[in-house]
Order: sequence, then C-alpha cells, then structure tokens
Amino acid sequence: MKCSKCAEKAVYHRRYEGTYYCKNHFIYMFEKRFLKEIRKSKMLHRKDIVAVGLSGGKDSSSLLYLFNKFAKMFGIEVVAIGIDEGLKKYRPKTLKAASKLCKSIGVGYHIVSFKSGIGVSLDDLPKKLKKRKINWCSWCGVWRRWLLNKSAKKFGATKLAVGHNLDDEAQSILMNFMRGDWRHLQYKPDDKNDCVDAGFIRRIKPLGWAPEKETTLYATLLRLPFCSAECPRSFGMLRRKVGRLLNEIELAHPGTKQQVICTADRIKASSKTGIKAASVCKQCGEVSANKICRACEMRQIVGK
Ligand SMILES: [Zn+2]
Ligand SMILES: [Zn+2]
Repeated sequence: MKCSKCAEKAVYHRRYEGTYYCKNHFIYMFEKRFLKEIRKSKMLHRKDIVAVGLSGGKDSSSLLYLFNKFAKMFGIEVVAIGIDEGLKKYRPKTLKAASKLCKSIGVGYHIVSFKSGIGVSLDDLPKKLKKRKINWCSWCGVWRRWLLNKSAKKFGATKLAVGHNLDDEAQSILMNFMRGDWRHLQYKPDDKNDCVDAGFIRRIKPLGWAPEKETTLYATLLRLPFCSAECPRSFGMLRRKVGRLLNEIELAHPGTKQQVICTADRIKASSKTGIKAASVCKQCGEVSANKICRACEMRQIVGK
C-alpha cells in the first residue's frame, strides 16, 4: 500500500480514519497531534519544569522523547522519574532501557523505589499481607501515583506528565463502569490548580489520544530504546481482560475506543458536581478527598 499523502510505501493504516501513512508522514502526524493536544488543553506554561514518569516502556519513552525534542520551543525543562516497585524479574530491564534513552538524549533520570519511598517492595507484599488475595495492580497503582507525585515535587517539577495512551484511558473508563465507580466518571480535573505550593501538581497526559499501536510504532520508527516486557503481576488482572475485550471489538468496529472516551468526556462535561480533591491527607500532605489518602491507608495495612 502507498501513503495517502505521498508516493512512499505505507508503514501504518489508521483503520478508523481509512488513511495510510509512510514513515515520515506518520512521524509528522504523530508529533503534530502531540503539539495540538498540549496547546488545546493548555498543558504547559513557559518555564515549566516537566517531570515525565518514565517506565522504560514505549509510551513513556515516546513521551519523554517528544517533550525533550520540543522543550526549547515550549521554553520548558524536562526531567525523568522512574518508579522501581521492586519486581526483581521485571523492573531492572525496563529501567535499563529508560536509563539508556535518558543518556542518549541528555535528560536527567531519577529512580525512586517503593522500598525507600514506602518501606516495602512489591515482591515483599505477600509476606506482609499473609492471607490476603492480592490485587497487584491496585496496590502498585496507588503507591506508584503517590510516589510519583511526591517525587515530582521533590525534584522541583511544576507539571507531572504520564504516558497513558488511548487504550489505557478507554480501559480505565470501562473499569470504572464495571466497578460502579461513578465518582471517577464524573471527576473533572481542576486545571487551574497549577500551584505546587498547595500540594497540587497538575498531571498531564499528552498521549491520551494516541492508540497503543501508534505509540509503539513511533518509538520503533525512531529506534528509541524501550522494553516491551509486560508486568508479570498484571496477568489475570481486570485491566488486561478489559484491554483484550476492547481490542476485539475495535477490530470489528474501528473507532470504538475513541467513542468510549468521547462518551466519558460528555458525562464529565454534563456533570454539575465535579468532584474535586479539595483537601490534603493528614499524614502525608498529598492531595486527598478523604482525611487519610488511600496510599497512607495501604501503608498502615502493611505496617509502614
Ligand atoms: Zn507519505
Ligand atoms: Zn497520605
């Protein structure tokens, strides 16, 4: 197949749009869309220090590369933070890829571990919880977000960027439906809360529009060092099942994932009571809707 824009060989077919892209036109489209998203949602201000949560996977690697490429244009500084949850059979290889990328583009990389930041690594969790059946993604996700927020502020960042793609976003929305978590479906992030002093740091997701296939292709075409291993603890978890289901439906009905996100955006827009995390956790000072945040509750359970 030929590119829809020129005579070159196509490397990608965007099925929901019916367009074919050659390597150059794909990269051009991907970067243009990234810039558009940042401008549209007013994600950046000049002099921002953007902390990118860098896991070493294709999404966050693409994201860091993009921020670094356009840093001068935006007038921002970029740092990368890696969270090491302590899965010995998995994390070291992804952190290695992440370090390699940071070195090659000259971005500082800070690695923060669960062990040092929380006092317990994920590998130690079964010992600590004894009889409990462990929902790994939940424990990991809550602590990861908490530690990333804290670390971003510690390293002087004014924005925290995460590499969530369209697939991740659509999965999260469906999971909220399935778990009856209507609060999250109504939650409107308060974009005005740019102030770091108050404990808030705005979290931005400039790749939320990009299907996983596209972030993978972008990182591959640019030969970014990234690790494609999947977390061994995520097998059997709800997110993986929802992801498979969505892929199956998307194949037969292209554009489904976008529709899921559009619907959720409309629910948010029509919700009168945007639920805001108005207060801070009494224990750690991080933003929380309750007196004690979920991360601190979970730390108490394991005695930390
Ligand atoms: Zn082309
Ligand atoms: Zn807390």
